[in-house]
Amino acid sequence: MENCIFCKIINGDIPSKKLYEDELVYAFYDVNPEAPIHFLVIPKEHIESTNDLNPNNINVVSHIFKVINKLVVDLGVSQKGYRIVNNCGEDGGQTVNHLHFHVLASRNLQWPPG
Ligand code: 5GP
Ligand code: ZN
Repeated sequence: MENCIFCKIINGDIPSKKLYEDELVYAFYDVNPEAPIHFLVIPKEHIESTNDLNPNNINVVSHIFKVINKLVVDLGVSQKGYRIVNNCGEDGGQTVNHLHFHVLASRNLQWPPG
């Protein structure tokens, strides 16, 4: 999708610190980390938000969770814990309209969020 920051990251037009990539997803560190470990996992297909999931594209979400499961082990935070966040729409605080899951770890995260 033209003018989508995350599509540009996927195709290499915007540099990113890559953690993992396969045919379906791309994982990279957030440029503005909110925790010592803060990365994003995104589908390569441009899906705007969770509102745009449907029976044809929803399988990528289980794949994203599979990838998160592997990355938190690789990064050594699976046992201490971490938080997976998806922001949807204006009230949800979504600023980039390409579906993404934040993974935050390596500090004691508070609840509820602001
Ligand atoms: P949202 O607020 O939409 O849930 O999250 C978007 C996230 O993308 C933010 O945490 C923001 O720091 C991150 N982000 C925005 N632009 C870029 C970028 O160009 N590179 C990287 N690595 N992260 C970005
Ligand atoms: Zn996109």
